[in-house]
Amino acid sequence: KKRIFSGVQPSGDLTLGNYIGAIKNWAKLQDDYECIYCIVDLHSITVRQTPADLRRRTLEVLMQYMAAGIDPEKSVIFIQSHVSAHAELAWVLGCNAQMGELSRMTQFKEKSKKHADNINAGLFTYPVLMAADILVYQADLVPVGHDQLQHVEIARDIANRFNHYYSDTFTIPEAYIPKVGQRIMSLQSPENKMSKSDPNPNGCIRLLDDKDTIIRKFKRAVTDSGSEIKSAADKPGVTNLLSIYSAVTNKTVEEAEKDFEGKGYGEFKLAVGEAVADTLAPVQAEFCRLQGDKEYVESVYKKGAEAASYIASKTLRKVYKKVGFIAK
Ligand code: ATP
Ligand code: MG
Repeated sequence: KKRIFSGVQPSGDLTLGNYIGAIKNWAKLQDDYECIYCIVDLHSITVRQTPADLRRRTLEVLMQYMAAGIDPEKSVIFIQSHVSAHAELAWVLGCNAQMGELSRMTQFKEKSKKHADNINAGLFTYPVLMAADILVYQADLVPVGHDQLQHVEIARDIANRFNHYYSDTFTIPEAYIPKVGQRIMSLQSPENKMSKSDPNPNGCIRLLDDKDTIIRKFKRAVTDSGSEIKSAADKPGVTNLLSIYSAVTNKTVEEAEKDFEGKGYGEFKLAVGEAVADTLAPVQAEFCRLQGDKEYVESVYKKGAEAASYIASKTLRKVYKKVGFIAK
């Protein structure tokens, strides 16, 4: 079986973008691949986090993974900081990554603009740690949204470079991007992607928003001039709503456009809101159930960390040997 690795930062409550662009697909891949899913807490501190919030959110993200259908009997689910090999491999890979290539990363540029008061070194080397996450498991595929494509590319570049200099060590990973919903945009500013760290509460739908909140946010969603419900470059708001609708109903965008032929924006937005609320309802119910079962949740991430460490330490040993470190 081919191996899959992916992760989400516990940097905020999960959004519909995280769900459609990432987690929903993770669940589908479990039967055909060996899947390893991580909550990347080390990555999240590249932006200031309140410790108590981080602690709570890390477990909430874990429970949202499980509620969305990631089954701990099929997949490894764990917390990044529990497996020290990520940070250790990141050091070695950092010595094989160039300042120049890291400076070209759009996420770094965007996040340094957004957090101009804290442009820390971790924010700059974020892609190196992400390369370590992927390469330490020798992952074949990395299911991510469009925004992470550049980071998977740099992971491939670093792996190729290492393999070339030290001899074959890492599997070269490939990004796996969904056809529909690879880039869900903010409901308030459809030129920006929906992000869980967005301070504007109306821009994103949270996985745990109740039905009324979801409907209200969709009713307020920014649409475009004109009245036609069509996916088009000059209609970013409508296009985004159509791709959300098609992602949650598993219809193509063309089928979605047909559903709304001749209808007004009001009716359209309400229908999208209802489709989203219907999709999220079972996820929310399962999340609530898991919240009442702390012991089970703890057993999942402990078992996950053990399984992940076993694989990761094998790669790390091999890497240390290749670069010329003495075995202990
Ligand atoms: P942050 O604002 O803290 O960076 P985020 O919403 O961008 O949060 P990440 O933890 O950085 O979330 O990314 C987790 C996964 O979700 C990645 O695979 C990423 O590609 C995907 N993802 C994030 N935002 C979107 C989006 N708007 N549309 C589709 N996929 C997304
Ligand atoms: Mg992000």
